[in-house]
Amino acid sequence: MRALRSEKKESRPVRSRLRRALAKALAPAFRRIDEAGLEEVEERLIMADFGVAAAERCVAAAEAGAKRGVGAAESVSREIRTVLDDGSRQALAVAAQPPSVYLLVGVNGTGKTTTAGKLAHRLAADGGSVVLAAADTYRAAAAEQLERWAERAGAGFVRGQPGSDPAAVAFDGVAAAKARGAGFVLVDTAGRLHTRDGLMAELAKIARVVGKQCAGAPHETLLVLDAASGQNSLAQARAFAQAVPVTGVVLAKMDSTARGGIAVALKQELDLDARFAGVGEGLGDLEEFDPAAFARGVLDAS
Ligand code: GDP
Ligand code: GDP
Ligand code: MG
Repeated sequence: MRALRSEKKESRPVRSRLRRALAKALAPAFRRIDEAGLEEVEERLIMADFGVAAAERCVAAAEAGAKRGVGAAESVSREIRTVLDDGSRQALAVAAQPPSVYLLVGVNGTGKTTTAGKLAHRLAADGGSVVLAAADTYRAAAAEQLERWAERAGAGFVRGQPGSDPAAVAFDGVAAAKARGAGFVLVDTAGRLHTRDGLMAELAKIARVVGKQCAGAPHETLLVLDAASGQNSLAQARAFAQAVPVTGVVLAKMDSTARGGIAVALKQELDLDARFAGVGEGLGDLEEFDPAAFARGVLDAS
């Protein structure tokens, strides 16, 4: 598999708004690097969803840095960078033999269908041809919603009968991509509660079916999380990763929260990489998650 490098299409105002929010939350704490100041940094990092373990790491780094005369913000920023970016790949995996099959999974309402549409647009803008497969066969409106995204993104579209087997729709999507020489299949799945074993088994079946049809598929299984869901995201991620090999996370709705620290918690606690950030409801509102830029954002607080 080779790596696909997407062109950067950032919506800068949103990103800088996010960075400002995080910076504003941390700034008062960074002004004091005595013990109480560090405690406040830890508290604020936890409030911003970094999780206890990563927050403790950051504070330890700030403490060590202070002894060497390094400012708290710089130490914390560096530590976040270390947690997020241990050299693992960020680009989407591409099959040696097309199509590349990407599954979008997650609980209800996190932004899976929207992300499928945005991702199709991104891939198409990079010259790829895409088929969107509506494997959410439970909600009547789900397939229509995805079909609209397919039209907007200029992607092919495959759906099943209402109530039909989602794995069969995924199968049809891959078959359609093969028939028309499309490079990518994005399989939009129904939202499911991570606590319901039967629905999780259904997801594993989708992965199994496309894997038989296509070597190495699914090439990516992207867990779509609502960035505002906080620590519950970790429970979701744990359960989904048990059912299917989750290869990365999309943090949707980053524009509606200042607590993007969940990306750090996911990496620290589950070794899951945030790959994309959803920053709005439009076709172009999907950014590659950039660990360096995220870590730099904390520096704005100093
Ligand atoms: P699904 O149930 O997981 O497929 O979620 P949908 O894709 O249908 O999205 C649920 C709602 O969240 C819709 O109203 C979307 O417009 C909205 N949404 C999805 N992604 C984003 C995002 O990045 N930012 C914002 N502001 N809204 C989003
Ligand atoms: P209950 O209200 O807790 O009994 O749950 P339901 O059985 O009504 O289902 C909850 C959600 O899961 C709804 O959105 C259903 O459309 C969806 N659902 C139900 N059965 C299935 C299934 O077999 N597969 C999938 N993917 N979703 C299902
Ligand atoms: Mg959906």
